Amino acid sequence: MTQMADKTEVIESRLYIGGQWQAAERGWFEVKNPATGEVIGRVADGGVAETKAAIAAAAQAFPAWAKTRAEDRAKLLSKVAALMEERVDHLARVLTMENGKPLAEARGEILIGARFLQWNGEEGKRVYGRAVPSDSFRRVIVMRQPVGVIAAITPWNFPSSMITRKLGPALAAGCTAILRPAKQTPLSALEIYKLFDEVGFPPGVVNLVTGSKASEIAGVFMESSQVRKITFTGSTEVGKQLLVAAANTVKRVSMELGGHAPFIVFDDADLDKAADGVVLSKFRNAGQTCICTNRLYVQKGVAEKFAQKVVERTKALKIGNGLNNGIQIGPLIDKFALAKVEEQVADALARGGALLAGGKRVTGSDYENGFFYEPTVVGKATPEMLVTREETFGPLLPVYEFETEEEAIKMANDTPYGLAAYFFTRDVGRIFRVSEGLEYGIVGANDPIPVAPEIPFGGYKESGVGRENGSEGIEAFLESKAVSIGI
Ligand code: NAP
Repeated sequence: MTQMADKTEVIESRLYIGGQWQAAERGWFEVKNPATGEVIGRVADGGVAETKAAIAAAAQAFPAWAKTRAEDRAKLLSKVAALMEERVDHLARVLTMENGKPLAEARGEILIGARFLQWNGEEGKRVYGRAVPSDSFRRVIVMRQPVGVIAAITPWNFPSSMITRKLGPALAAGCTAILRPAKQTPLSALEIYKLFDEVGFPPGVVNLVTGSKASEIAGVFMESSQVRKITFTGSTEVGKQLLVAAANTVKRVSMELGGHAPFIVFDDADLDKAADGVVLSKFRNAGQTCICTNRLYVQKGVAEKFAQKVVERTKALKIGNGLNNGIQIGPLIDKFALAKVEEQVADALARGGALLAGGKRVTGSDYENGFFYEPTVVGKATPEMLVTREETFGPLLPVYEFETEEEAIKMANDTPYGLAAYFFTRDVGRIFRVSEGLEYGIVGANDPIPVAPEIPFGGYKESGVGRENGSEGIEAFLESKAVSIGI
């Protein structure tokens, strides 16, 4: 490693319920830096009692919050966004320490997360109802109202922006909220809640329940008839369990689940741009994003040349502690993530894959307490390999070949997932044909990172239900009420 990261203090994180910072009955749990194994956080271990208290606080705060002017709600969100921008260095550092991603990526996450608050706050001002032409004996209007108390569960891979992408539109719409962040990365949630507190959100509007037992806290959310909506980002497996549990009280649901993104390179593509794109899309956050490329399909005529370009770029990536200068690949989040990548690589090689780059854990004294794996490229990939079917969530890129456009679309769609898909081509007609043929909620045509506040984000098939951001984002937190007035 080039320059050693500073030793850091242990951050203490409390629950935030009804506008008060509180300890938890059960005590505390620890958060560790995945690059070094150091303990960096001591976090309140909330459970059933605290979750119930947070729901009660949110329910009490709801009627008044729902009646505030959207403009005032937007103003508070905008203040938080401004503080996030102002304090980006501190927030990014906390994020890198708990998640491992390089500082530059952490800064990017904080800044885009701030824009999610800003954008959704503005959308709140333009929630219009409508007047509907009807029979001569009545007039009909459709009012939009907030759904009520919402509960949000967020993952560790974007510890900050997944929170603002949910709470931004929820609060803008007039809902009150309880957040349960992932146990591996609760410190970024704490930092956002400090800002909510600082700008003066009324007590009970935003509540934070950290805890080591996700299913216990989620169980209280799911049983409560006061919680009208659950918004979840995480694995398809847990999402399915929550969908079943939501049936009991017929909760509204938004589910941002797993992905298995194909990246298709046609022979007419700008190969250098496509190679930059695939490396960015695959190895960002060490491959741990739901829209990371999981399968690379290259048209036969350019396959060898393109693989070389990708391999050169992959081998040049710098691995290490994300707090150090120039690092592009941090550690994986834990030993389970590492084991999954090791299993998929071993399986791919056993089934005839050709190792083109990487292929093993990174060892040596600087790495021994972290979960580092080399960015890896495997050629001659086949449909039978585990990596073709299971979400990888790590730095492994399998390369497949195809001959025709139809074949590429068919291979790309051959998965239960449908979150993001990418392709590179310079043919305008093909851009439309392939975009229409891909069964995915987000398509990046010559765009490896199709993410912005104005772009609706969400999946087809088993990748989810609903959308975040775009004009759809706020819709997820609104009900429509038809009022028919006899005259
Ligand atoms: P996960 O295991 O489903 O965890 C996600 C969140 O759910 C965490 O807060 C986790 O808590 C919690 N959780 C775990 N078990 C639960 C249960 N039984 N009931 C309620 N909540 C529970 O997912 P992960 O593996 O950490 O995260 C990666 C997954 O998220 C990938 O599949 C990825 O594709 C997906 N993801 C999707 C999007 C999207 O927008 N579509 C964005 C990012 C990530 P603990 O921390 O305590 O385990």
